[in-house]
Amino acid sequence: MADFKTHLLGATLVSGLASTALISLDEASVTEALGYWVVGSVAGLLPDIDSDNSIALEWLFSGLGVVAACLIIVGGSSQLGILSLWLLAALGFVLVRYLGLWVFAGFTVHRGILHSWLANAFFALLGLWLSYIWLNTGAKVAWGVAAFIWLGASIHLLLDECYSVDLMGARLKSSWGSAAKLTDFTQPGASLLLLLATLLMAHEAPSANSWGRLWRLDWSQVSWF
Ligand SMILES: [Zn+2]
Repeated sequence: MADFKTHLLGATLVSGLASTALISLDEASVTEALGYWVVGSVAGLLPDIDSDNSIALEWLFSGLGVVAACLIIVGGSSQLGILSLWLLAALGFVLVRYLGLWVFAGFTVHRGILHSWLANAFFALLGLWLSYIWLNTGAKVAWGVAAFIWLGASIHLLLDECYSVDLMGARLKSSWGSAAKLTDFTQPGASLLLLLATLLMAHEAPSANSWGRLWRLDWSQVSWF
């Protein structure tokens, strides 16, 4: 399997190319493209968040811990003294960062259900909704975010699959086929739940019409050089 650095590099490269192409095609502002680039690069790490000791996972839970501490400070600043506020915020961070991570790691199997094409679609639509509702970006950017999450995470699966093939191409290592799968069929219940959540998010999603020009684009008319 490909390592952390390879995943980050692969996703950064491909989403960098795709986001700059969007600027040239007048489909994204420089700021939007920069956002897509970051989103796509980080998404290249998503499928491995179920690996119990992955760096991406530690980053994720550290980030969530900081968010929890901030929420405690914002929520409690009017009622609590400085020392109790600090103590509670620290407690919130430790609980999320360590206990949260421990529970998450206990529930997930590496290269299980989150390392699949279905999970990629789930992550993408989750990003769409977060961007649409939470960041209030509008439908076009929300769909852009979804596309770049899907792109980054898909590069990840493809890279893992490539690395499981012997470099001479002669024989397949035993990990072949475990990297890029539709879903984890050994977990039918969880797969069904993930599928339902994905379908629901897709069904309720705002229209992607604003990307219509890109679909109808005549690629032979694009100035490539
Ligand atoms: Zn992986």
